[in-house]
Amino acid sequence: MIFENATILTMNPKREIIERGAVVVDGKLIAAIGKTQEIVARYPQLPRINCNGNLLLPGLIDTHVHLAQCILRGYTDDKQYEFLEWLTGRIFPILGNMTPEDGLASASLCVLEMIKSGTTGFIEVLLAEHYGFDGIAEMIEKAGIRAALGKIVMDMDPAIRDQIGIHPNMWEPRQVCIQNTLKMFDRWNKAADGRIQVWFGARTAGEWNRPDMYDEISQLARERNMGITIHFAETPEDVAYAKSQGFRSPTEFGMAHGILGPRTVLAHYIHSDEEDWKLLVETGTTVSHNPGSNQREPWGPPPVARMLKAGVNVSMGCDAAVANNAMDMVRDLRVALHATRIFENNKAAMSPETALELATLNGAKAMGIEDEVGSIEPGKHADFILIDLDKPHLQPVWNPVATLVLSALGSDVDTVVVDGKIIMQGRKVLTMDEEAILADIRERKARLAKKAGIEMHLQWPVI
Ligand SMILES: [Zn+2]
Repeated sequence: MIFENATILTMNPKREIIERGAVVVDGKLIAAIGKTQEIVARYPQLPRINCNGNLLLPGLIDTHVHLAQCILRGYTDDKQYEFLEWLTGRIFPILGNMTPEDGLASASLCVLEMIKSGTTGFIEVLLAEHYGFDGIAEMIEKAGIRAALGKIVMDMDPAIRDQIGIHPNMWEPRQVCIQNTLKMFDRWNKAADGRIQVWFGARTAGEWNRPDMYDEISQLARERNMGITIHFAETPEDVAYAKSQGFRSPTEFGMAHGILGPRTVLAHYIHSDEEDWKLLVETGTTVSHNPGSNQREPWGPPPVARMLKAGVNVSMGCDAAVANNAMDMVRDLRVALHATRIFENNKAAMSPETALELATLNGAKAMGIEDEVGSIEPGKHADFILIDLDKPHLQPVWNPVATLVLSALGSDVDTVVVDGKIIMQGRKVLTMDEEAILADIRERKARLAKKAGIEMHLQWPVI
């Protein structure tokens, strides 16, 4: 199959942009790439899809996702909550009441939304036992997207659980959750033709988690070349905890407990400095920058431009729909750009090109699949998206990267290809039943709210 007449953002080492370009897909792989005229002459027998001058680029990779929280989109936007009040008082009562069917419904909505906005691979950070791991993995297998599923692991003293008031279903005993993660690893890692990975999704250090658990999981992960992802150095409490343990910073705590490494993704990572970044570079640790949710918290975004300059692999994530409202990586390219420019008070602090690198090449590295995806090059897997440029808000195009990063939205994604298979075409997702997923989530949201005893108090009267 040839995808012809596209403007291709290759993201290859030279970052070439090919006008009137074509991509040859052979099975799962990209067989060739070049000017349409030459490619068609070389492969006259192959069927062709005309991209009509639209933008073709690597699929976006979201390195921080909470599948189960999509059902909570817009649920806590009424006021500024104190972090613990928000999590244990508002979020956990609903998450704790979820059944595997609810977990699957929320995850299906999340995956559907990600595909429709051009995400072809993602890292889930905290998949709890009662969300139903098998059901979610089966759905992902059918949907055709790539995923690293972080299965939740924790080691919280039940007395602290009860003192904080954490919903009992949000708690799992240490050995049970570690063993279940390894069971899921044996069952699902490299499943779906290699599209699914199973990682440790570790709870944050502090009173939430006894520190020696990290020594255990990092050892288990290393033995299996398994990934670890964790919310890290996110809040001022995380810094205070690291200091209370005798460390200069959360990063040094992470280094001492084996958390850092080439298969680790640290989400948010707000509180750090040059000394910490040296450790990340030395160990090959990746950061997931979450600009959409960070800008809603009082501590703001991390110094991304400086981390990049120091050589840290910074990727990008949308976080949860309850914290960022949309799992739209195209929209968040712009948010990342603005967050960095405002943080540094300097327009040159991040270019649209850099923002796109975060969401493609750096995301692929975060997932440990940089040899397979992240750019459009012969021999790599055919994971790419097409952006429909034939729209008033996207014309005229002076610089296609700027158009993508600063003007486009996820809803401008027309076609999504993963592993050579078209999973969305003309905005219709071919691997999922969109109508059924939307009908199901509406009904489940109402039932779940009732079960959890949640009442919404809107500012304006609902009549
Ligand atoms: Zn998160």
